Amino acid sequence: SISLRGAQKSYGDHQQVIRNVDLDIGDNEFCVFLGPSGCGKSTLLRMIAGLEDLTEGELRIGGRLMNEVSSAERGVAMVFQSYALFPHMTVFENMAFGLKLAKTPVDVINKKVGEAARILQLENLLKRYPKALSGGQRQRVAIGRAIVREPGVFLFDEPLSNLDATLRGQTRIEIARLHKQFAAASVVYVTHDQIEAMTLADKIVLLHTGKDMEQHGSIAQVGAPLTLYHRPVSRFVAGFIGSPR
Ligand code: ATP
Ligand code: MG
Repeated sequence: SISLRGAQKSYGDHQQVIRNVDLDIGDNEFCVFLGPSGCGKSTLLRMIAGLEDLTEGELRIGGRLMNEVSSAERGVAMVFQSYALFPHMTVFENMAFGLKLAKTPVDVINKKVGEAARILQLENLLKRYPKALSGGQRQRVAIGRAIVREPGVFLFDEPLSNLDATLRGQTRIEIARLHKQFAAASVVYVTHDQIEAMTLADKIVLLHTGKDMEQHGSIAQVGAPLTLYHRPVSRFVAGFIGSPR
């Protein structure tokens, strides 16, 4: 589980990009951060990952206070939009890399990578190098690399935005399926795509932007996709979700 209380983030003296965020994400919950470009989605995700400090407030993962805990020790795995695979390593080696670093026994590595490859339909590609893979296959390797570490928290930042529409649809279905298999994990998934948010999320967190700097980077509404659609709390939410308010 993830919990944020009074989370704030400022750059410099007056540029506040995350404002008063209180949020709970359960084990087994698929939470989507949604909102227009620049509203603070990636910043909030990076704060959870430990790649950015909180200027104010508390972050807990699994009940434990994380503010002073390093990224590596938080038990989170992150998949970015630009999935940097190691070009000189095979698919297998790419997926095994983190486990090797952690000095995992070889037989355990083989088992975990094999299992992830099966789930992601990469079994026939394990000996290939990244340059011989399609964009979607590379993205699945990046996801595989995260899965094998069996994290309690999965963080995705627009993982599908470099893919074409067909692959985006397929990979989206795979991510939804994965979530069912890894039921004990909290997932946070950043996107500005309403369709992705509506189809994947148990819970959507819609962040504010706009000329009104009082609200920039605060939560506009949190709820199930259909709640935001049918009962938007403001014009901003209705406008962004495309509901008929
Ligand atoms: P996008 O959909 O375009 O990826 P986002 O919602 O992920 O947008 P963030 O990357 O979180 O947005 O950025 C939120 C705000 O913080 C933006 O206005 C951005 O300009 C600002 N920002 C991000 N990083 C820094 C930084 N290192 N220094 C100053 N401002 C920053
Ligand atoms: Mg972003």
